[in-house]
Amino acid sequence: MIKTTLLSLLFIGCIACNSKKETAQKTPRFTAEQAQLIMAADSVTPMRVFKITKKSDSLLLRTPSERVIVDPNDTILKNLIDRMYATVRDSLSLGAGIAAPQVGVLKNIAWVQRFDKEGFPFEVIINPVIKQYSKKKQDCPEGCLSIPGRRDTLSTRAYAILVEYDKPDATHEIEMVEDFTAVVFQHEIDHLNGILYLDHLKQEVKDAEGLMTLDSLSN
Ligand SMILES: [Zn+2]
Repeated sequence: MIKTTLLSLLFIGCIACNSKKETAQKTPRFTAEQAQLIMAADSVTPMRVFKITKKSDSLLLRTPSERVIVDPNDTILKNLIDRMYATVRDSLSLGAGIAAPQVGVLKNIAWVQRFDKEGFPFEVIINPVIKQYSKKKQDCPEGCLSIPGRRDTLSTRAYAILVEYDKPDATHEIEMVEDFTAVVFQHEIDHLNGILYLDHLKQEVKDAEGLMTLDSLSN
């Protein structure tokens, strides 16, 4: 049953790949402003992390990102990916992942730390889409480079996800990710949709208040 689902998803993935190629040429890669920001320093120089404490940053963080045309020879894309890595590994803002909007570029790119692989390597995911969520949830403490001084536990994250994405070498991947690594993926993919983990927390509070109201009504 799972195999059949995976196969059909792979098939759908292939159709999606072909249609992507047709529209790819029509989409500009980076705006002049984005290119300037990305190329303002070399590949090992961290970028400024956008934070919700600044209004203009907060607006950008709430904006959904665009698809990326994956071209391994694109020097701007390569510098962005390298500088995002330098940013997430920067001693001042050490995190388990980073998404392009967090450095001010609204493109579907993120770095995720793989706690499910030996040595916990960081990997780049481009144009990621979550195809399936497990019903099983997990409680997990989360922090965010864009939300200074906070750490909260969400109980709404799926334990496992089926996710597909492009890699910097332009190959396509589909895989099941579990446990804490699945939380990292969900957190970073949320960023690409203009969603912050605090939004889920607000929803949890609303849901709890709703339940309390129902309780008091039934009492
Ligand atoms: Zn974050």
